[in-house]
Amino acid sequence: MQSDIRLFMVIPCYNEQEVLPETSRRLEEKFGKLINDGVISGDSRAVFVDDGSADKTWEMIDELHKKNPLFQGVKLSRNRGHQNALLAGLMTVRSVCDVAISMDADLQDDIGAIDEMLQKYKEGAEIVFGVRSSRETDTAFKRGTAQSYYKLMNNMGADIVYNHADFRLMSSTALEMLSEFTEVNLFLRGIVPMIGLKTDIVFYERSERFAGESKYPLMKMLSFAFEGITSLSVKPIRVISGLGVTIFSVSIIILIYSLVRHFTNNTIPGWTTTVLSIWAIGGLTMISLGVIGEYIGKIYLETKNRPRYIISEYLGDKDDKVNLVDVKICRTTEFDK
Ligand code: UDP
Ligand code: MG
Repeated sequence: MQSDIRLFMVIPCYNEQEVLPETSRRLEEKFGKLINDGVISGDSRAVFVDDGSADKTWEMIDELHKKNPLFQGVKLSRNRGHQNALLAGLMTVRSVCDVAISMDADLQDDIGAIDEMLQKYKEGAEIVFGVRSSRETDTAFKRGTAQSYYKLMNNMGADIVYNHADFRLMSSTALEMLSEFTEVNLFLRGIVPMIGLKTDIVFYERSERFAGESKYPLMKMLSFAFEGITSLSVKPIRVISGLGVTIFSVSIIILIYSLVRHFTNNTIPGWTTTVLSIWAIGGLTMISLGVIGEYIGKIYLETKNRPRYIISEYLGDKDDKVNLVDVKICRTTEFDK
């Protein structure tokens, strides 16, 4: 039985030399099975996006590509972060694939969930979110912070899928629509639900990183969280305005109170209150300015309209017409059919 669904897996890799051998082995096995069972077509591919790694990641991808046409490579000119690497991969393959599934390189996402994602696609879903069924493999700290983060995001008005990272299936139609979002401050988890279309969910167990270290230490994680909020919602500005109004009302009440004391000949020397309020209001003003500055910074970046990624090399099939807008070196290989 032959299938005509051409699947492209997109896997961002940043210094992943420890996990790549195992990841590619498992992918090869999975693709083999899916092709055999007639779920996907024989020319389906796994694309590794090298996000400016400093180790042997690109050499390994190159080796894999030479040995097996299943593996393709996209090399970014420098480290641009997970989201941009993912976008680079998805945008490159969007015109040649029927479906793309994005997955982390470290095998935390369950390759086994792919079957169910493809099943949902066949049932008509254009986007399928991989949602982790539990967070037992995380440290209590990561679990707690992640959970409050989702709550905060939703309260801030960003419509993100609970417990969904970037393990998801997107049809070529959905990818085409994603390409219309040209913002530079990109947070895919917030943008993809905005596309609309028919979506579905697949649950999976998230395991520990197979090898190597997390590329998202605490500081990077916090900045990612902050980026997520400020690039999706303007609610923080509203919170600040609300706070400003409240504080102003309080100062009016204080004014009335001191006038009353004054006219009843009860004036308080009031050194403490004065100094305290100067500091409090000064601090709040600075916080407000900081938040506003954050948005202005974003506007600044958007108006510059810089490329979100630059691909320096591409390893792919000769016949595929992929989107190679920014590619400097394109090495396509003709494999024996
Ligand atoms: N990654 C990337 N660029 C970066 C950081 C990470 O492409 O600057 C990739 C990384 O190789 C992995 C995925 O993004 O495939 C998720 O990163 P990681 O597993 O380190 O994050 P965690 O799972 O600890 O949140
Ligand atoms: Mg990971």
